[in-house]
Amino acid sequence: MIVSSTYYASAKYRSIKPELEQLQPDIHSCPVCLQMANLITRDDVIPAFTEHCRVCNQVEHYLSVPCPGCEQETRLDEGDEPFSCIHCGHTADRYDLVDEDDSLPEDYHPGNTPAGCSQCDGYDTVCQYASGYLCTQCLHFTETLGCCDYCSYSSTTVSEYSSMCGCDFCDGHPETWDLYDD
Ligand SMILES: [Zn+2]
Ligand SMILES: [Zn+2]
Ligand SMILES: [Zn+2]
Ligand SMILES: [Zn+2]
Repeated sequence: MIVSSTYYASAKYRSIKPELEQLQPDIHSCPVCLQMANLITRDDVIPAFTEHCRVCNQVEHYLSVPCPGCEQETRLDEGDEPFSCIHCGHTADRYDLVDEDDSLPEDYHPGNTPAGCSQCDGYDTVCQYASGYLCTQCLHFTETLGCCDYCSYSSTTVSEYSSMCGCDFCDGHPETWDLYDD
């Protein structure tokens, strides 16, 4: 089983090698199939990375964050596991680690975070980050948040008809409910 999948991976690797050579130096070894076919791309705006292996199609998203314990850049993988530093073992809540909201409770603040993420249906997973908002669960970054006119909850995608249809986190006005029934 392992022999045949390794065989398959190296055959596939040979077939796409010319294409991969164009993409140097962003190609690294894949932790799953061990081929030099793992393309790492960085988001244009924030230090978020996507690894996509062209041989086995393994995809990983992660954010590079300075560890509060040892200050080394550490990888925070997408998901809902708490942050745990591979260098010093420091652990932290994902949201607290990434959130850059430094307003004080006594400041006037519209208070649109924590917000909801329409990409992963995360409730209260979106924090303030860099010039916008970042979902601490799926690492989706957006410049702006919407606010639902029906339930007043902020999230990454809100329809312009939210006063009737609601958002991903509420059902909207009861008058609209039967519109979706067959
Ligand atoms: Zn792979
Ligand atoms: Zn650390
Ligand atoms: Zn999300
Ligand atoms: Zn809503």
